[in-house]
Amino acid sequence: MKTFGAIAGALLIIGAVIFFVVLPPRVDDRMNVVIEHAPYEVSAEAHALHEKIHVADLHADMLLWMRDPSERHARGHTDLPRLREGGVKLQVFTAVTKTPKNLNYDENDAGSDDITLLAVAQRWPIRTWGSILERALYQASRLDRLERVAGDDFIFVKSASDLQRALNGDALAGIYGIEGAHPLEGDLANIDRLYDAGLRVMGLQHFFDNELGGSLHGKSGAGLTDFGKAAVDTAVARGMIVDVAHSSEQVVRDVLARNDKPVIVSHTGLKGHCDSPRNISDTLMQEIADHGGLIGVGFWDGAICTPTPQGIAGAIIYAVGLVGADHVALGSDFDGTVSAPFDASELAVLTNALIQGGLDEPTIRAVMGENAIRFFLENLPAA
Ligand SMILES: [Zn+2]
Repeated sequence: MKTFGAIAGALLIIGAVIFFVVLPPRVDDRMNVVIEHAPYEVSAEAHALHEKIHVADLHADMLLWMRDPSERHARGHTDLPRLREGGVKLQVFTAVTKTPKNLNYDENDAGSDDITLLAVAQRWPIRTWGSILERALYQASRLDRLERVAGDDFIFVKSASDLQRALNGDALAGIYGIEGAHPLEGDLANIDRLYDAGLRVMGLQHFFDNELGGSLHGKSGAGLTDFGKAAVDTAVARGMIVDVAHSSEQVVRDVLARNDKPVIVSHTGLKGHCDSPRNISDTLMQEIADHGGLIGVGFWDGAICTPTPQGIAGAIIYAVGLVGADHVALGSDFDGTVSAPFDASELAVLTNALIQGGLDEPTIRAVMGENAIRFFLENLPAA
């Protein structure tokens, strides 16, 4: 009996070690792939230009994974050292809080959730296991922690003056966003809680229809609900930026009709360039640009069809042709359970590909970062 107890105890400990220690980094490694490649060739001209550029990226999901962001890692796409090595000056870090099982671009319902198991396995605080709001607050707190440990290397940007401070010095500027506004849990008062935690970019939907309206990959295709309209108005009045990535086309139209504030599509491709169900119509993209909006071009196959440096450059060049150079930015979706052709440290290869693609220097500077930096300086709360 004593032996049986000892064996059962040992098995339990081994099981716990596998679940809590071995599994999470394995999942991270398997989900956030860097496509194998020989070292990229970057010309001296491209290196010199890249050095001068403040790179900005509208979307990465680093906060979902238990990599210490202050240290360099061999898995996933981003951490502070790799972002800085790649010349990134501004990064929007987005919280994923609920994803359906068997996630796809065509149709998902809200009935299941894979993030619960991930939260438990990664030893997130117990309060996050059953609350989507708590998951968003917890991920915001990871940026607070990064700011504490990174010294002068990182600023958790909540205002235009924070961003200006980062631009004046050596720090990387991190802006906090949510991927879908289900963390509101149907209560407008939670916008204030999230604002106080640093939220400045509010994505409305992710892979399923939520309290605010239809997802591009949901079941209804619906527009903004009454709650969604109130949430957009409240967020905009608070000085947040609305992100319509993953929203149904009707939600995008409803948001554009509500006010004159520009929106972003933080990570996407262009339908006329890559006919994927992940992408909304070119006409709607033009309307977003006409409203002063910004389109973040992604790096993965579901958005741009060909996930290579040349493929990303091709999508960017198409976007510039469609909406004009002032409205195009980067939206990598690094660490968003995608396979990318390079990690953040290798971003100079994209500058190289844009030169090869024939873009001039002002256009390359604009899409690689200047547009996004200008947009946030103009649209974040002043102080
Ligand atoms: Zn996404």
